[in-house]
Parts: sequence; structure tokens; C-alpha cells
Amino acid sequence: MTKIVNHWIGGKTAEGASGTYGPVTDPATGEVTTKVAFASVAEVDAAVAAAKDAFASWGISSLAKRTEILFRFRALLDAHRDEIAELITAEHGKVHSDALGEVARGLEIVDLACGINVQLKGELSTQVASRVDVAAIRQPLGVVAGITPFNFPAMVPMWMFPIAIATGNTFVLKPSEKDPSASLKLAELLAEAGLPDGVFNVVHGDKVAVDRLLEHPDVKAVSFVGSTPIARYIHTTASANGKRVQALGGAKNHMLVLPDADLDAAADAAVSAAYGSAGERCMAISAVVAVGSIGDTLVEKIRERAEKIKIGPGNDPTSEMGPLITAAHRDKVASYVTGAAAEGAEVVLDGTGYTVEGFEDGHWIGISLLDKVPTSAKAYQDEIFGPVLSVLRVDTYEEGVALINASPFGNGTAIFTRDGGAARRFQLEIEAGMVGVNVPIPVPVGYHSFGGWKDSLFGDHHIYGNDGTHFYTRGKVVTTRWPDPADAPAGVDLGFPRNH
Ligand code: NAD
Repeated sequence: MTKIVNHWIGGKTAEGASGTYGPVTDPATGEVTTKVAFASVAEVDAAVAAAKDAFASWGISSLAKRTEILFRFRALLDAHRDEIAELITAEHGKVHSDALGEVARGLEIVDLACGINVQLKGELSTQVASRVDVAAIRQPLGVVAGITPFNFPAMVPMWMFPIAIATGNTFVLKPSEKDPSASLKLAELLAEAGLPDGVFNVVHGDKVAVDRLLEHPDVKAVSFVGSTPIARYIHTTASANGKRVQALGGAKNHMLVLPDADLDAAADAAVSAAYGSAGERCMAISAVVAVGSIGDTLVEKIRERAEKIKIGPGNDPTSEMGPLITAAHRDKVASYVTGAAAEGAEVVLDGTGYTVEGFEDGHWIGISLLDKVPTSAKAYQDEIFGPVLSVLRVDTYEEGVALINASPFGNGTAIFTRDGGAARRFQLEIEAGMVGVNVPIPVPVGYHSFGGWKDSLFGDHHIYGNDGTHFYTRGKVVTTRWPDPADAPAGVDLGFPRNH
């Protein structure tokens, strides 16, 4: 029987009233396993209304109460890691260990949220003028929304809601319709942890649901993570509707390899970062830029390693890489490889046409490695989001930096070198939000913030860390005078207020 995934509104599941459902497919078998309800405008309105009602008490609840619930949620999340990872693998296709990794990185943000009292301490200046003190506090915004992509169905929602609810907001999540089950499990665990009804809600669906959140007058802020065209649209639309917005977009992450680098370490890193999660990571390395004469050796070392990757269903413990999310996406990824030679690239490994015995209807593609890719090739210019690594050749460090900085994307980037001076220069000169030095996927830990530059992020705030707390709160400054009983009345003074 086909499983049905419903919305979660006001602390309980809400059957899809619109009568519209979308299919959820197991990427390893190509079989539709689940129907997910698509929310109508009325259903989104019901979720926002539940969140607004809940905000009346949650927004003024004590920090002790909020963090106590988050600590309980953390324990439940820890206990259910495997179950959540299984849900992810069944709908996304990534291998179990990778799914566990995403739950672990989400848990890091819950850790941060458990200690939100430290971040919300505020500031106090005493005696700024005679008997005058100034306090700066931060308060929640109200109902906030999160719209998330398919590639991290548990982690990316957890980049958002733990901080949002810890700071006193209530939340409406619109997860990806392609792998919706993990978000529902998170909702159930939050309820089990004692979160009051309506503080966390989930509406599934497509553009109808998203557009309603973007225009709803009671939604005060929108966090989005997904592809660049949609991120740009979300930022423009939600901003025009007066909302605070952070919209994280797509990427094309480069790894610059200098001639003095440890080439074995660089090849290991390039293969792990390019083909992990079948390249469906916003921080995947998709372009290696080889400087000087090392190109041939580096490509050979990458090829040797990449060829050995074991591809298979995500729930098979021997698999290192699973299938892609949909057949249509697989075909699109394949088209970049098929077209690469005509665009001037050398196809070193061609993963198109790959299949796994016994799972012939799965969304499989093998490993592709392209060398001497010109910057004019579509395989270089577009975010492919699949297991395709391009190698580009340059003569100098300066040429490499110029090439990377000319990309419209600026999410993550890495340099591999033994030269500290070059690495330091790279950190300052490169136009990207997250930089790795001998680290290929420099995803910041939970207490730092995550975010790109240029077309990889629209808005002023990166996500989680201090930026997350800032995004989900607004500042208030309170200036207080308590006169001493012995003070003479100040008298009327129409002059500009001065501190003295
Ligand atoms: P997507 O942009 O297609 O979808 C993201 C969300 O937007 C989903 O919830 C989807 O339902 C919704 N959506 C899709 N089309 C819409 C439309 N026309 N109007 C309104 N809403 C719409 O992204 P995806 O394919 O789910 O995820 C992959 C993309 O996300 C990649 O580009 C990847 O780089 C990016 N991503 C970025 C980060 C980051 O931190 N920068 C992290 C993860 C993923």
C-alpha cells in the first residue's frame, strides 16, 4: 500500500484537504512508494494561523522552558538517528552513512539552540548619562517560514527551526516535496519533547504553498535554501512583501591545487568532495583548478580513486554512492557529460548509461571525470548537481584566482597547498563565503554561520551561528533614567537631548 505523508499543523497531522498529492519515489528502485499532500492556500493559512496563536505564549515563554524542550528534543534526535537516516535514504537515495552524517550536522545546530540563552544575553551600558542606563535586547519576530531543498531533508530544516524556535518564534516549514518524510519525523519528535502545539508546523507542497508563505501578512521572515533561480525569486518576492529574507542558492565550488600540494591528499579530497552524495551537495567540489605542471598527475590520481567507487542502493552497507533523486535529473546530469567533448573537454571517465544489477529502474549514473574543460563549456558554467567533476588547467595562482572569482557563484572554495603564505593570500583574495585550506568541503561548525557570496546567497544574513540568532530576532534599545529622590526637577528644555 502506498504510504501517505500529511501536513503537521497545530501539533498533529492534518490530512491533505486540497485533494492534490505528489508522488515520492525510491530513487534506487524507481518505484513510487509514497503520496505527499500538496497544501492549498487555505491549508497554508491554517498552519500560519496555528503558528500565530502559538506565538502569543511561546514568544514570551522563559528561556529555561524553551531550552529544556530543546534539550529533550536533542536526546530524542540522538536516539532516532538511524530511523531518520533510513527515511532519508528511502526517498533521497543517499547512502546510510551519509544520511547519518546529515543528521549529525543538524544535531550540531540543536546543540547551539540549547545554549541560546548565552547568545540572547543582551547588552547593558550603565551611567551613559547622569542616572541613565541603556539596555539592548533582542526579541523574536513572530511567525517565520522555512522552505528547504531535497538534498538535505533533515539537516537544512535543522539549520533553521532550532534557532528560530529557541529565540521565541514559531515556525512553518515547507520541505521539499521529493523527500518529505524526515520533516514529519522531526515534527513528531518535537511534539514528544513537549513543544507546545503550533510552535512548529509543516506544510508540504509546491509553488502554491511557497507563494502563499511569501505573501502571507502574518509571516515575518523567510529562510530559503535551494537553487539560485528560485532563491532569487524568493528574495525578490518576499522582500517586496516586506519580509526579512535569507535565500541561499546554488553553487559551483572550486578547489585550487597549487604545484606544491600533497597530490595524494588533494586527489583523495577531490574524489570525496565531488562524488560524495552523488554530487548532490551544495558544497560539493565540482571544479578542480590545477596550477602549473601537476595537471596530468593529479587527473590520473583522481581517476584511479574515482573508478573504485562502489555504486549501489543507499541501504546496502557496501555502497559508497547512491542514485540521483529523479530520472529526469539523472538525464540532465548525463547530458552535460555527453555534450562535454563537443565543447572541448576530454572525457576521462564517462558515467552515463550506468545501471545496477537487480535495480535497473533506479536513477543511476556512474562517475564522470572531465579534463581540460574550457570555461565556456556548459559543464563548467552550470551547477550540474551530480557525480561529474571538471578539471581546469591554469598556469599560475593568479590565473586560478581570477578564474574562480569570475564565477557567478561564491558558496565554498578550497585551496590545496603547503605554502602558508599562498593560503593566506587566497583567504583574502577569493570571492566566496566559505573557504577551506586543505579542507575540500569547508562547512562551518554550528556556532559559526554558513553562507555564500554572489549568486549563492541573496540577503544579508548567513544561516545558523550568530547570523541565525540575528536573523530571527530584532533589536530593541531601552534607555532608562531613574532620578535620585534628591534631584531637583530637570525642567523643560527644548534643546536637542545631550548626554551629560
Ligand atoms: P529547488 O530550488 O528546486 O527547490 C527548493 C525548494 O523550493 C523546494 O521546497 C521546492 O518545492 C521549492 N520550489 C521549487 N520551485 C519553486 C518555484 N518555482 N516557486 C516556488 N518554490 C519553488 O532546489 P532543489 O532541487 O530541491 O535543491 C537543490 C538545489 O539547492 C541546488 O541548487 C543546491 O545547490 C541548492 N542548495 C543550496 C544550499 C546552500 O546552502 N547554498 C544547500 C543545499 C542545497
